Amino acid sequence: MEGTRVGVAVRLRPLLADELRQGHSNSLVSVDPQRQIVAVSDRNVTRKFQFDLVFGEQSTQEEVFKRCGVEFLIKKFVQGFNVTIFAYGQTGSGKTHTMEGYEYVTEGKAPRVQLQGGNERLGVIPRAIQSLFSELRADCSVSLTFLQLYKERIYDLLNPAEAMQSGGPGLKLRWNKSDQFYVEDLSVHRCESANDVQRLYTTGLKSKIMASHMMNAASSRSHSLLTLTFEAEDSEEGAVVVSRLHLVDLAGSERAALTGNEGEALKESIDINKSLFTLRQVITQLSSGKPAEHIPYRDSKLTSLLKQSLGGNSYCLMVACLTPADAYWEENVSTLTYATKAASIANKPVKNLDPRTRLVKGLKVSSMQREVVELKRELAAAYRQVDLLSAPREERARSQASRHLPTQDSARPATIARSFDVSFSDFALSPELLTEKLQDSVQLVRELIGQNRQLRDSASVLHQDKTRLEEDYRHVYLVLQPAADRQRRVEGAA
Ligand code: ADP
Ligand code: MG
Repeated sequence: MEGTRVGVAVRLRPLLADELRQGHSNSLVSVDPQRQIVAVSDRNVTRKFQFDLVFGEQSTQEEVFKRCGVEFLIKKFVQGFNVTIFAYGQTGSGKTHTMEGYEYVTEGKAPRVQLQGGNERLGVIPRAIQSLFSELRADCSVSLTFLQLYKERIYDLLNPAEAMQSGGPGLKLRWNKSDQFYVEDLSVHRCESANDVQRLYTTGLKSKIMASHMMNAASSRSHSLLTLTFEAEDSEEGAVVVSRLHLVDLAGSERAALTGNEGEALKESIDINKSLFTLRQVITQLSSGKPAEHIPYRDSKLTSLLKQSLGGNSYCLMVACLTPADAYWEENVSTLTYATKAASIANKPVKNLDPRTRLVKGLKVSSMQREVVELKRELAAAYRQVDLLSAPREERARSQASRHLPTQDSARPATIARSFDVSFSDFALSPELLTEKLQDSVQLVRELIGQNRQLRDSASVLHQDKTRLEEDYRHVYLVLQPAADRQRRVEGAA
């Protein structure tokens, strides 16, 4: 994958019963889902925005899930690519509805939380979980973390004792050598099935609502980040792939929280909004084409954690949510402005091969290469021996006097060299080819050793024949012939 833009979908929710009762109308915002256009007007001006996808008031959860290509993104995730999906917009615009889709029921002072909602209400996250487990192979692993970010503090939603510490220090954000941010001591949960993920997800959601209640804060003032990590061996690359799927429900983006507050209240508002403020800066600077080193990711916890999601190594989908009521004209224009900027951001998703397994693979190759060198040396020695045995006697004597064993390819007899169509160095590329050639070489060495033995056997037979002949010769000339001569002399004298 060379590069891909951040995908942006805009969703306009219907007016709610309460809003209708209060007399709100929806005359200032309209969508054209055929041409993917949103129009917002005040009394004098109409501004039009165009996006990859635009969903009107009647859009269903299933339609949003299908047409946003979440299934495609899940496929990418299990192939080893990072994926981020986040909802953006002011409080009440439908972010949580789009991402989660549940209805919350809280009861009593210490609320018991029930999650309700039929299947058709399910949002992007529960649908993505189902879709993920229909894609999984047996030999992979999935783990999950779920955190909440409130006033720039990180709480573990799956460690309720810690999540409930209202005003507690929260968990520390750290970064490793390759500038990857991670949350220290965040609990990681291994999941075997969609049910496992679903159970942990709803457990975390309950903690989120309880924590909001204890901190006396609406849950729309905190960000929640569900992260799934996928690990499997990549059959093509022969290395382990590790990818991350971030599913994010952001706090409301309205600026009203900053107005009319003073002192502590103002500080709290700034803290609550710091991550969103920085997110907007990051989006603005990336869309203006600034180089990565000038992007202020580190200025907030949220942008640190989502560093790869915008302008980095990830597929990314933003669902920008709009409120239809006329009173929110300004907030809608702001949302559409940032959505337009986000749509111009270029990301560069790459398959995440674990560098450790790449190393192991590299080591395997280099140890095979060492074996090849060793075998080449043995092979050359075997060729040399065969040569010696078949060479004329004087040459053999000369060679044996200077007993160097050749180690270079050039020592191979031309006839054998011709039987290889590539040189050894050419197949240092693929481990499969190396294995095949190694086996060929071992076979060849075995054959040559066999031939060598046969030649040595025949040499020894010849040597015995020669010794017998020499003995015969000595017998004829040193014993028989002198005896015959003596006999002749005796006969002559007689
Ligand atoms: P946010 O998370 O942006 O603050 P919510 O998702 O909580 O907003 O939505 C506010 C209210 O609007 C909720 O009662 C929710 O059920 C309702 N709502 C949001 N989007 C839709 C929609 N597309 N269709 C019907 N009701 C919606
Ligand atoms: Mg919400």
